[in-house]
Amino acid sequence: MAVTEGSAASCPVCGGSGHRTLGPNPDYPDSEIVRCSACGLMSTFPVPPQEELAEDYETSYVLHHHDELPPHYVPHKDARAAAQRSFVVEHSDLSVFDRVSVLDIGSGIGSLLKAFADLPNAGDLVGIEPSPTMRARAQQRVPPEARLLGGLFSPNRFEEASFELVTGSHVLEHVGDPVRFLGDVRSTVRPGGLLFLEVPRETEHEVRRIVAARHQGLMHLLFFERETLLAALHAAGWELCHVAAFGPSRDSFSVVPPSPRPSGSRIRRRAVRFARRLGLAKWRPRSAKRSTTSAEMGSIGAFSTENEPDGIWLRVLARNPAR
Ligand SMILES: [Zn+2]
Repeated sequence: MAVTEGSAASCPVCGGSGHRTLGPNPDYPDSEIVRCSACGLMSTFPVPPQEELAEDYETSYVLHHHDELPPHYVPHKDARAAAQRSFVVEHSDLSVFDRVSVLDIGSGIGSLLKAFADLPNAGDLVGIEPSPTMRARAQQRVPPEARLLGGLFSPNRFEEASFELVTGSHVLEHVGDPVRFLGDVRSTVRPGGLLFLEVPRETEHEVRRIVAARHQGLMHLLFFERETLLAALHAAGWELCHVAAFGPSRDSFSVVPPSPRPSGSRIRRRAVRFARRLGLAKWRPRSAKRSTTSAEMGSIGAFSTENEPDGIWLRVLARNPAR
């Protein structure tokens, strides 16, 4: 765990230069995941070129290239969007705005736009989604007046202060420089307007497991804990309204299946057989912790009603301070 001082990597949140290297990012093997010694942010350095990221999201990200979505996909996204909408409504007062124009970054199949479309004071609905396949699916699901745009978010594409609410569900972890991104987003939000984000809640232990297993397909550049997410928002000038963890406990779920340890499992099998002989039919060794793959992860939220204080997702609502 060498601490590199004065290296070229400076933390995108606090600017600190000291860090520990956790290992290569399996999705971007030319880059390492580093943990800032000052603020604790886990980020990817160097950030892969923007063109490479844009192309990945157009062509290969998770399910975008599949013709058929798994049966749980749509109900899961819609149920999550409904819960996210409730979170926003519960922790803010959207009725103070004459109209609530919504920009959803990474709008996927349009679940969040659909969820906010029936606000009594709904304004413009705009989604940005790089994948043409997902955009086509969204187009069939959102109200006809909603605008769906391709490509990646850039503040130049929108008028300043033109939205009351910007949302991004599982977007910020794909961004190279969170403070710059959150600052750019803030320029599109009117003073007093809101930002809702949901990101995975990571731990260093989990990130180390992802690195060790060379687990691919997440395409995450940032790995947030509650503190580092709030530090990024603060550095970009946002005021916190509310933050909470949701979903099943971080301790009980990992995107990485348990590593095969032949000798260990032989011992475990023998222990289970011995327990059965003693009549403890349901006994399992404690190390046989439940784990799941990324593909399975998509289905968890659809059916899980667990919301643990150490859940695997973080939801945050922030306000652009009124001038
Ligand atoms: Zn830092």
